[in-house]
Amino acid sequence: YYKENSIIYHNGTFMHPEKASGNLYSQALHYGNGVFEGIRAYKTKFGTKIFKATEHYERLKYGAEVMGIPFNHTIEELVNITYQLLEKNNLQDAYIRPILTTGSNMSLLTSDESVLTIQCWEWGKYMGDKLLKVKTSRFERPNPKSCFVEAKVTGHYTNSILSTNEAKNAGYDEALLLDMNGNVAECSGANVFMEKNGKLYTPKRGHIMAGITRSTIIEICKEEGFSVEEKHFTLAELKQADSAFFTGTAAEVVGLKSLDDYHFPLSWEASLGYKLMKLYQKEVLCERSKKLSEAV
Ligand code: PMP
Repeated sequence: YYKENSIIYHNGTFMHPEKASGNLYSQALHYGNGVFEGIRAYKTKFGTKIFKATEHYERLKYGAEVMGIPFNHTIEELVNITYQLLEKNNLQDAYIRPILTTGSNMSLLTSDESVLTIQCWEWGKYMGDKLLKVKTSRFERPNPKSCFVEAKVTGHYTNSILSTNEAKNAGYDEALLLDMNGNVAECSGANVFMEKNGKLYTPKRGHIMAGITRSTIIEICKEEGFSVEEKHFTLAELKQADSAFFTGTAAEVVGLKSLDDYHFPLSWEASLGYKLMKLYQKEVLCERSKKLSEAV
């Protein structure tokens, strides 16, 4: 992620990462009380476009608010700073990682200081292009009665690290996590959709990250006339699906080959997921032609 000449935005200024200093007394380091985002920019025919920048920074702001972390910028300022950062790094296709860390406070009360850092780097499709072999994790997603599951809090990601390592160590590509009620929740860093009899289903909000890619996919489905429903479903139901895929900013849209010992029977190329993967690519590149009804 680090390149010799890269520039980051840190504590109000653009600088080389070697010049930045971290706070050893930060609550983010000791207790996992920081919030972050994962955003992508794409080189489009209209120039560099940060995909859904406002939605990502709104989610960062929401996380800061619920965790009591001071948020000292407007969304517009942050979008503007991010475009400047991309330009300074000479990047058009990029992954952008803003992180808001807390100031010194070794008590369990929140600090009245925070530091914003924004980094960016070139990053291919996070989970690659090939279909994924997925393992159901022994770890559940964080429980909404013990934390704010829709906030992208650094500490929550120890759960993602545990489940991803568990899956990789057992010879799989990624983990699927259930929620506290035993329903399917999501992957460690992406949302899940399944296709059954030509209809798509994705878990309802409540126990999952409200993925921005997930809502983009739902919007595209509605515009294209694909049937999609947000509802809770079980692992047994997912293991009877025709096809399934994950969605996320880093992963984009990626198909599943198998889940534990269940192989999804529909070929990826014949699935709605595949069509949505292509449409999503067009959407982020501002190349999606208007749906038929709007075009006339
Ligand atoms: N679930 C989890 C646990 C995640 O970390 C992410 C990535 N933010 C997602 C889903 C997908 O969210 P988005 O589409 O907004 O990147």
